[in-house]
Formats: sequence, C-alpha cells, structure tokens
Amino acid sequence: MKRIVILGGGESGSGAAVLAKKQGFEVFVSDLSEIKTEYKSLLDKHEISWEEKQHTEELILNADEVVKSPGIPDKAPMIKKLLAQGTSIISEIEFAGRYTEAKMICITGSNGKTTTTMLVYHILKNAGLNVGLAGNVGQSLALQVARESFDYYVVELSSFQLDGMKEFKADIAILLNITPDHLDRYEYKFQNYVDSKFRILQNQTEKDAFIFWENDPIIKAELAKRKIQSTLYPFAIERTEKTKAFIEKDELILTTLKTLFTMPTSELALQGMHNAYNSMAAGLAATIVNVKKESIRQSLQDFQGVEHRLEYVATVKNIRFINDSKATNVNSCWYALQSIKTPVVLILGGTDKGNDYSEIEELVKEKVSGIIFLGLDNSALHNFFDEKVKNIIDVKSMEDAVDKAYEMAKEGDSVLLSPCCASFDLFKSYEDRGKQFKNCVRNL
Ligand code: ADP
Repeated sequence: MKRIVILGGGESGSGAAVLAKKQGFEVFVSDLSEIKTEYKSLLDKHEISWEEKQHTEELILNADEVVKSPGIPDKAPMIKKLLAQGTSIISEIEFAGRYTEAKMICITGSNGKTTTTMLVYHILKNAGLNVGLAGNVGQSLALQVARESFDYYVVELSSFQLDGMKEFKADIAILLNITPDHLDRYEYKFQNYVDSKFRILQNQTEKDAFIFWENDPIIKAELAKRKIQSTLYPFAIERTEKTKAFIEKDELILTTLKTLFTMPTSELALQGMHNAYNSMAAGLAATIVNVKKESIRQSLQDFQGVEHRLEYVATVKNIRFINDSKATNVNSCWYALQSIKTPVVLILGGTDKGNDYSEIEELVKEKVSGIIFLGLDNSALHNFFDEKVKNIIDVKSMEDAVDKAYEMAKEGDSVLLSPCCASFDLFKSYEDRGKQFKNCVRNL
C-alpha cells in the first residue's frame, strides 16, 4: 500500500488526509504545532494516525509522497530532507485535483483573490450551477472531493499553493495582478514570486481560458516572454483591440457573449476601481461557463462583499470608519486610498514584510491628514513618513488607535484602517485586528 504523509494538520492537511484514506492509501499526518480539536476529531473519525508538536522522522521519510501545507516553507528542515532524498512533495490542491473531473475555476493574484473568488462563486451558485467553493476560503478542496460531487469548483490559490502543483490544470484561470508580496518566502527575488503566480497557467491548452488584467506591467512583460497556449481573456479599464471586458462611459462591458453585456458601474455591489477589475474578471468567468446575462447582472448587483475588505463600519459625528484590515500589503492600501473621496486619517503598521511605501506617497500627500502607526516596531514607517506627514502618532493597541484617529479626524473625514502590514505583532490575525477595530469604533 502506498504511504501518503501529510505535513500540517490544518484545513488543507486534514482534508487531504480524509481523501487519501478514502482512496485507500496508508495515511499519516504530522504537525509541528498543535492541531485544532475539530481537525483531530475529523482524523480520529476516519481512523487516521496523526502526531502534533513534533515531526517523527522515521514516520515521515518513508513516505511515497508528501502533501505539504502551504504554510510550511521549503527551507523547513524536514522539507529539505525530503527533497534531498527525492520524495515527491505536492500541495493539497494538486492531490485533490487527481480525484475529480469537475471544472476548475482558479483565482490568483497579489490582491483581490478572496473578493473575486467569492464573487464568481456567488454568480455561479445564483445561476443554479452545482458549484463548490475551495482553496484559501471555505472548506479544503480535498475534503469536498472526498464528500461531494460538484460539477464546478471556484478555487482561491495563493502562490504557496501554486508552488506545490504539477499536473493540476485550471479550466479557467484568473490572474488579477502581480505586485511584490511574500518576498521573504521567495529569497527576496521578485521573479520567483512572479513565476509562482504564472503556474496558474500550467498544463492549459487552447481549450482553457486565461483571464487577466491587461494593463498590469508585470503580467504584460511576462506574457511577452512566454508562449501561452490558453485562450486569452484580457480585461482593462479602457477598451483596446484585444480586451474582452472594459469600462466605457461608466458602463461595465463584457464582449464574450453573442451580444454585448452592459451594466452601469454605479449598480455594481462592489465600488472602487479595484473592484471594477474584480467584477470584470468574475463576469468574464461567468460568461465562459454560459451563465445568462440577467443572472450575471443580478449577482454583480446583490453581492454582499467580504468582511475586512474596504468594509464600511459606522459613521460617528460625521466621520466614516472603514475597516480594510485585509490590506496586508502596500498595493491594497493604494486602492483603498484611491477609492476614498474625503480626507483620510490612516491607521497603518504591523509586521513589515519589506515594504516600499513610495507606492502610496502621492496619495498620502493628497488625501491623508494624519497617520496612526499601530505596531510594535514602527521604525520603517517613521523613516519613510516623518518628513512627509505632520500629524503622526504611535500607538500599541487598537483602542488607542481608534481613539487617536477619532480625535485627529474632522467632520466629513474618513478613518481608514488599511495597515499595509501583517498583523501578527499585536493581533492573532487580520480578522482579529479588523474585529477589534470594529468593536472599538462601535464603542466610541
Ligand atoms: P487577497 O485574497 O488576494 O488577499 P482580498 O480580496 O482579500 O484579496 O483583498 C485584499 C485587499 O486588497 C483588500 O484591502 C482589498 O480592498 C484590496 N483589493 C481587492 N481587490 C483588489 C484588486 N483587484 N487590486 C488591488 N487591491 C485589491
């Protein structure tokens, strides 16, 4: 019997274990940290052996194949050993993809993945398709492949998941944008990260669709270098010869149906330029799987949005509070600032991943009246912003951040939490950071 070892007992690892067991493999799960109770009971229920807070070498190095959680970097000692002895290491998505015939709609990019994934899922589900939601959002793909029989999956893929994919193919691939992120995991080489994102196209033929942002300079340069088999569906803010979706006279236009699909941008549930891109990408995917115009229109209109992404919280004394805690890199903060029409008090800071703040410099000069640095170590922020912004305050808790921002803001201003950084210095996660922000605002 073949032995599958799964490293990491989280959502993807426990799902992969259940699927592997169902397929008749000998399965072992090992996690260096504690495994959550819900996953332990799932594993026990399926009589799968597991260990936590340790990696027992003899039980791992004898694997025929290893499924690795995307959270474990290649430089982890156990991965190095496995690679050295030539063991195949794959991701949960690659593993799950072997056991389903469902059509895969896969979404990647530096920003907008979750929003676009949820939006595509919303459109397909409303249109009555038998569709599952997987990847970074919701249940793991593997667990659903083990339990369900969907015809389509909408899958959010991070670059880490793409790294462990070999034979997997996306029937529809969406690449939203590429800006520097996670460089710490890519030896600080931007090209490695770019290559990883382009794995979304691997194994595609002309029968498959590639939806991408035509104006992204990085994607553009990469397309010029590569020979791509896929059928191309570029989207852009303006029409060009090749664009399949664009904005013209405040209408979102899709050209992939027999007749044009048009919809006033004011009617889109998701506002702001970045969200127009996300809506175009999702709309194109929907037309490719033959969703009807009226149904696409309805879903683009009634989508509820996703928590912590430019989420409106409340207005207190005519000051609007906006929670964009998921903005963990500089580019997403740029889009947040860009979409706000009033002067802004900006809360930013956290764990800096090697950020270059010059990307938001212009918008900060134009719109930001004061900044709150919310982090344990704000030195990188001080170095960049001290000469450029007059009102700067350092805080170390969300309560202080919200109080100080409220004091700083004038009537008619917006207070924006869009931190450009990961949250792990002061918070459990970006969700925790966003929830604390909302609670503090509601307590004002
Ligand atoms: P991801 O899953 O890629 O992290 P999210 O949908 O969670 O993306 O959004 C993350 C952040 O990026 C939010 O602050 C959001 O407002 C912003 N954002 C969403 N879509 C885009 C886009 N197409 N381009 C740039 N920023 C975006």
